[in-house]
Amino acid sequence: MLIDTAAEILISEVGPRDGLQSVNRTMPTADKLRWITALYQAGLREIEVASFVPATSLPQMADAPDVVRHALTLPGLTVMALVPNLRGARAALAAGVHKLTIPVSASAAHSLANVRKTREQMVDEVRNVVALRNDMAPGVKIEAGISTAFGCTLQGHVPEDDVVWLAAQVIQAGADETGLSDTTGMANPAQVRRLFTRVRTEIGSRTGAAHMHNTRGLGLANCLAAFDVGVRTFDSSLGGLGGCPFAPGASGNVVTEDLVFMFEAMGVTTGVDLDKLMAARAPLMAGLPGEPLYGLTPEAGLPKGWVQRRGLPASEIFK
Ligand code: ZN
Repeated sequence: MLIDTAAEILISEVGPRDGLQSVNRTMPTADKLRWITALYQAGLREIEVASFVPATSLPQMADAPDVVRHALTLPGLTVMALVPNLRGARAALAAGVHKLTIPVSASAAHSLANVRKTREQMVDEVRNVVALRNDMAPGVKIEAGISTAFGCTLQGHVPEDDVVWLAAQVIQAGADETGLSDTTGMANPAQVRRLFTRVRTEIGSRTGAAHMHNTRGLGLANCLAAFDVGVRTFDSSLGGLGGCPFAPGASGNVVTEDLVFMFEAMGVTTGVDLDKLMAARAPLMAGLPGEPLYGLTPEAGLPKGWVQRRGLPASEIFK
């Protein structure tokens, strides 16, 4: 493994969407806004702030337009929202988001169970959302996130050929980029390297983010494996918010604090200030008192003499 320490990466914070969506309670809107501001102040420049779904199915996201309106006031922030379908996309575009992410499941069983659509029908949905975007807001970027790319709780094994095929399909349908999600926390580093390499061979620079889960403790290892084969965008959530319901005590999303620590310690630039990032836990805890948060870096604290040494050659960092 050769670490490119001159690299810069983008950490896409998904806590306000992915995290809050997996918590049963609803975080008050005012606390959400304070939390998003704190994440921004820590240096995060892409935040998935909400999902546009019917409030009856996800009351936690009922304030999505208000949250987007606030996030749009933060200069230089890419405001991202998840949309499962055309109706959600219309609402998100009307709210003014910069980027849409559409989940498309690589597992045939998961796709039917989750959105009652076949994978082919979801590719059509991506095509429809692209047409709507071209019409309503041509500057908005569209990501199709391939969920269950590394395994599925319903069908078990997900053939790698299916993932590569689907990635090519959504790009053909007009998505600007597509990333791979380990929705169920089943990925391992060898698989991550192999699959991202295959997808990159197929769609080149349109390969998007690695969305890894820490369900079995391999979240960081999988991110590093993805980095090593050229991935430069990583999804994670502050405090690993949104514990995995299938593995009590286990974090769901990769913990942003630990991810930033790993990369910055190696000299890879994230643009995120770790002290301010840890301070961003306060508004989260205020809005969801008692909610379990994960992360070993916040527990251990930063090492003595820690400074974020950006742009130094590896020889300087490791001497
Ligand atoms: Zn996730």
